[in-house]
Amino acid sequence: MKYSLKCTSCGSIYNSKSNAYRCNKCNSILEVDYKYPTEMDLGNGEIKHSKYKQLFPISGKLLSLGEGGTPLIKHKINASDLILKLEADNPTNSFKDRGSSVEITKAIELGFKEVCCASTGNMGFSIATYAKKFGIKCTIFLSKDAKIEKIEKIKKAGAEIVEVKGDFNTALETAELFSKVNNVFLCGDYHYRKEGQKSIIFEIFDQLGKLPDFIFLPVGNATLLAAIYKGMKELKRLKITNRQTRLIAVQAKGCDPLVRAYNQHKKLTYMHSTTEADAIAVGYPTFGFEGLEALRESKGLALSVSDRELESARKALHKSRVYAELGGVASFAGALKINKVHPSWFKDKTVVCLITGNN
Ligand SMILES: [Zn+2]
Repeated sequence: MKYSLKCTSCGSIYNSKSNAYRCNKCNSILEVDYKYPTEMDLGNGEIKHSKYKQLFPISGKLLSLGEGGTPLIKHKINASDLILKLEADNPTNSFKDRGSSVEITKAIELGFKEVCCASTGNMGFSIATYAKKFGIKCTIFLSKDAKIEKIEKIKKAGAEIVEVKGDFNTALETAELFSKVNNVFLCGDYHYRKEGQKSIIFEIFDQLGKLPDFIFLPVGNATLLAAIYKGMKELKRLKITNRQTRLIAVQAKGCDPLVRAYNQHKKLTYMHSTTEADAIAVGYPTFGFEGLEALRESKGLALSVSDRELESARKALHKSRVYAELGGVASFAGALKINKVHPSWFKDKTVVCLITGNN
């Protein structure tokens, strides 16, 4: 589908061939603005990420390692049935692969021979794997809290690693500078990744035959939250469904800037991370403003869970043979927390928890 890039703040328009990732007038992030038809359907093919290519900013072939098509499984907590979407079933064990498929396709489409990215681990592993597979050089800037197991996986995937003496936001600044100075395609939580992450909501719609009442999701940089909301708006705009899902953002208590901003009606401010859930340890979310809008517009909720609550959620899932890392179970920990206080809350509701990764 034809598109241009639009600043999310001042509305400035950039050509689809532009390599801009922030607005050069106001420094805000951009979004993909399609020339939508009045109506469209999602088609009848096999349910997987590549099925939704018509809603990605890709003109040729979509490069894919078979991401998406992840299972939905029922999971009972007390008297309520939850539905878990197992994103660890993706090629590099996290939801990040959906975004990497679109980003690496786009980098190659735009003629780049090299990509770079800031990461706490999972995104780096995903991009490094796609870059290697599709023959493009890759440099990953890792925050100081990146776990050794994840660093090893990225190394094995053949990427150059730069360990930054700082948190994710410092790694992000370094990657942005590196990409500008060296004319390298910048991967990460920007507009193209957001487009790829949208496939998760299209899949849920296809798998359930409707949008659920609630979706619980872990939030770090808030890209997935913003992506799901954009996907829901597209489903509405294309007259596929009018149903509305309430989005429920769950952050780790040791790093919950979005939850604080939303619940206290305050401006988003940087927060120093103290959580062990490295995958969602982001002190200042890139998609924070869009994430807040997604919560407001979907009549959503935001809540924090302690590392102890994350650990016990992880253990509870492990018993049911659902394997995930701490950050990946924040959604489930949030659902457990709400269920404990308001057991009737989920009654007769379709509730999906995104289990986002296991690295
Ligand atoms: Zn702007």
